[in-house]
Amino acid sequence: MPMRYLVVGGGLMGCAVALELARRGQRVTVLERAVPGAEASSAAAGILAPRVEAHGQDLPRKYGIHSLGLYPAWVQSLEEATGLSSGLWPSGLYRVVGEGEDPAESCPDVESIWTTDLPESLSHVPGAWWLPEEASVEPPRLVVAVRQAAERAGVHFVTGVPVRRVGADGVELDGGGYISGKPILCAGAWTGKVEGIPTLPVHPVRGQVMELRAAPGQLAHVVFCKGGYLVPRKDGRVLVGATMEEVGFERGVTPKGLAYLAEVVRQGAPWLVDAPMTRSWSNFRPASPDGQPMLGEVEGVYVVSGHHRNGILLAPLTAQVVAGALLDGLPVPEGWELARFLPPP
Ligand SMILES: Cc1cc2nc3c(=O)[nH]c(=O)nc-3n(C[C@H](O)[C@H](O)[C@H](O)COP(=O)(O)OP(=O)(O)OC[C@H]3O[C@@H](n4cnc5c(N)ncnc54)[C@H](O)[C@@H]3O)c2cc1C
Repeated sequence: MPMRYLVVGGGLMGCAVALELARRGQRVTVLERAVPGAEASSAAAGILAPRVEAHGQDLPRKYGIHSLGLYPAWVQSLEEATGLSSGLWPSGLYRVVGEGEDPAESCPDVESIWTTDLPESLSHVPGAWWLPEEASVEPPRLVVAVRQAAERAGVHFVTGVPVRRVGADGVELDGGGYISGKPILCAGAWTGKVEGIPTLPVHPVRGQVMELRAAPGQLAHVVFCKGGYLVPRKDGRVLVGATMEEVGFERGVTPKGLAYLAEVVRQGAPWLVDAPMTRSWSNFRPASPDGQPMLGEVEGVYVVSGHHRNGILLAPLTAQVVAGALLDGLPVPEGWELARFLPPP
């Protein structure tokens, strides 16, 4: 009888790890305090932009490009299992250069191409950096697809169940009850709040997002500008993101946050300044001190956290790495080891 894994937290990380383990023949239960995907994973804009997000760092760039490369087959496997699309859109990305910015200094990556041959939606700028391989996905749809695929692969989901404490042999639930198994802690920004292991240095970075309504096709690429981005959906919605705020676990959309996002619209797509705002929201990125993931075991508990701004991008690679570590004893990628945040043994 294979070991039972207890995944604590049903965000994209928890669901993706659970799915991968189940596909590899393991018994898995996901324990989620609310609804799977309710937190950062559904709040994310869904940009898959490894080159822009690496800020010139070799290893994050390499892992991001690898994970983006896994996306087409991953979402296809989800669609085959569930019939659900995840909204993967290989649209490419423009980095526009704003007033007072130096084009050379705003070049996002060595592969960027400077172009003045721009679509109508960028007619307000003389030129922009173009990255054809960057893409986007729709996180709320992706999480539902991963969750359903996991259920079909045999994963058992228990929702509305906060876990209070984790230990090598199982988890204690808030309000009583103990479940035996091997814990995998995927609690996102709340990772440091779960008892039973040394407090891990994951802190919340709040991001506010607003959604505008444009005509379908009016914006057909991800647009980055200084301080933010616009992400189109095929039905005409445009997500504008995102603030980066150190406010603890204070939820909320604020006038200051909306003003910041309005400035992103002014720079990236000024023709949208009068577009109706259909929704806005905020949530918490799980940030490690160096902004990179933390994967590994402490006191018998396997930790999967710290994906900060790139958890959607890195989900398929993370799921493979965690399954490889747990089932085959493979090492985690250099720079992702949890051990860098633990006292030396
Ligand atoms: C505004 C915003 C925009 C973003 N945009 C992008 C983007 O464009 N591209 C990208 O790649 N990434 C983006 N991200 C980052 C990405 O969303 C995260 O890195 C990723 O979703 C983290 O996934 P997770 O499963 O670790 O965390 P979460 O999705 O937060 O999931 C953690 C889960 O654990 C549960 N939980 C917590 N504590 C307990 C407990 N004690 N017991 C049981 N359950 C518990 C929570 O309820 C939650 O469901 C963005 C994030 C934000 C906030």
